[in-house]
Amino acid sequence: MNRIYSVCWNITEKCNELCEFCYRTLAEDLSLAENKAIADKLIEHGVEKITFAGGEPLLYKNLFELAEYIKTQKPSILLSLTTNGLLINKNNRETILRLFDWITFDLESTSVEYHKMVGRGEKHLSKNVDNILFFNNKINLKINTVATKQNINDIPYIWELIKRFNIKRWKIFRYYPINFKAQDNEDYFSITDEDYKNLKDRIMIITKDANVQIDFNDFEDFRTTYFSIFSNGTLKDNTGNVTCNILQDSIAECISSIDLTNHMTRKKAYEKFIDKK
Ligand code: SF4
Repeated sequence: MNRIYSVCWNITEKCNELCEFCYRTLAEDLSLAENKAIADKLIEHGVEKITFAGGEPLLYKNLFELAEYIKTQKPSILLSLTTNGLLINKNNRETILRLFDWITFDLESTSVEYHKMVGRGEKHLSKNVDNILFFNNKINLKINTVATKQNINDIPYIWELIKRFNIKRWKIFRYYPINFKAQDNEDYFSITDEDYKNLKDRIMIITKDANVQIDFNDFEDFRTTYFSIFSNGTLKDNTGNVTCNILQDSIAECISSIDLTNHMTRKKAYEKFIDKK
């Protein structure tokens, strides 16, 4: 692997939710000038898609300025925003529509109680249904769901909710006890291989006629798919050790320092889905 096509950029590790399955790091943010320097490297390398995530990316105060800079430097680049949705309001949603090609919201269940219990808060569900209603048919919409022992039986019902909208992708992450709170709460949230497989089978059956790309993200995918930059510019290998800092090191050094065995597999799956449409 000597090229990457997409980047997951955790632009800030700050967050306004308190999810009990969260595995973010608690690194500091970089300045706008430093992040522009990283963006220049990504553009020069030929990156086709950047997903801003976190933490909550809307808490990075220069997010829109950075996105604007990237779009000016490379108009064809796809920008994606993965947000918990709480900070979206009438003042910023038109800017989001102008700068981003994709937006991703998190839905964990059809139950307010579950979102409250896992630390997302009691307003998370209604706020994000409102967000989906607003963004529906205006931008490419994606839903992320973390599958845990506590919500696994409710996940098929999320489909009943989201199939009413023009959702392009639904990604179901297997709860991954790698770091931070996710590690502390392993016993409470972990699901077995068999349960995860059964969930996958069930989701594939109920979505089989739908025009939506379904992605499942198991442990192996976490470890071998993503070129993820943390808020301080570091990258980590699949054991969690820092391997490089993209601000100081070259992209080539960063690419060779982590396992990206399945990086292109995801791109191919997406292109296959687009071709089928
Ligand atoms: S899982 Fe995401 S939304 Fe929840 S606390 Fe962690 S970074 Fe924030």
